[in-house]
Amino acid sequence: MKRIFLKAVLVSVAMLALGDAWADKGLVAISMPTKSSARWIADGDNMVKYLKEHGYGTDLQYADDDIPNQLAQIENMVTKGPKVLVIAAIDGTTLSDVLQKAADRGVKVIAYDRLIKGSANVDYYATFDNFQVGVIQATSIVDKLGLKQGKGPFNIELFGGSPDDNNAFFFYDGAMSVLKPYIDSGKLVVRSKQMGMDKVGTLRWDGAVAQARMDNLLSAYYGKDKVHAVLSPYDGLSIGILSSLKGVGYCTAQQACPVVTGQDAEVPSVKSILHGEQYSTVFKDTRELAKVTVGMIDAMLSGKQPAINDTKTYNNGKKIVPSYLLKPVSVDASNWKHVLIDSGYYKEAQIK
Ligand code: BGC
Repeated sequence: MKRIFLKAVLVSVAMLALGDAWADKGLVAISMPTKSSARWIADGDNMVKYLKEHGYGTDLQYADDDIPNQLAQIENMVTKGPKVLVIAAIDGTTLSDVLQKAADRGVKVIAYDRLIKGSANVDYYATFDNFQVGVIQATSIVDKLGLKQGKGPFNIELFGGSPDDNNAFFFYDGAMSVLKPYIDSGKLVVRSKQMGMDKVGTLRWDGAVAQARMDNLLSAYYGKDKVHAVLSPYDGLSIGILSSLKGVGYCTAQQACPVVTGQDAEVPSVKSILHGEQYSTVFKDTRELAKVTVGMIDAMLSGKQPAINDTKTYNNGKKIVPSYLLKPVSVDASNWKHVLIDSGYYKEAQIK
């Protein structure tokens, strides 16, 4: 009896020691841009979950889409002595000073989803193939309109993401790589002539801004003529664009919705797709992004080389940041269940 008791005590002591060793892998600070979009909440939750499972302490903060706020949060994080900073920047160009402070203290930095620009103190970049996101969005327009079969001409309007987010340019360029030949041949017509990120960008990815711009486009360029497609780079913008369209009679039996794209497979947009309003979105599995990032952290901290699959694309002005690009997936009414439910990302009850 005594021996069994002793054994049990020894096992518990050993487990406690092991527990400490796990927690002792150090602190990882995670700076996320905003809680206003579900994807970033999922990113933060998944990062914390996987980091804890791997024995790290975590400090997760959201910056309310406010640049000085994010800067202050990161400065504060650095004083807590983390091993690694994981940052999804609001404005990728505003962090150089604080990253220098971090580097001076030996803190490693991973740019998460969005590239951090103008700083040599960025060790790795974990993201999706952002150019491919735009290709997928534009391809869903081309396929739905039947452009490859020679149909058209159709009217299209273009929306871009936030000009302070490097990704926005990749999404736009990817989309234009597919749409431009049709615009050049006259099969797609941008009646407003508003093209290029300087004209179509949407600061802070704000759905209300997109809605207001769509209102203006419709009243200025679409009296009798109808718009047949709208390139939207993000679900939050798509919802705003669709409200504007519905406000002037689209998405009814008389006048179908144009083909509206999106990104992030957010619940309101998946619902909208099932109602036949938004046409498509792009799913980026935040669980996978978090796993890749935690893998990078583990490798860096144990002196190994993190897995990367791109060493050419992401020049941040100071260096080409070694990157891991995950694959984005096209989602529409034909495959949402397979991609989003069968994968366990959402429960069907959340959508229906
Ligand atoms: C992300 C997108 C997201 C957008 C708005 C981008 O940086 O890559 O997934 O839709 O920000 O939050």
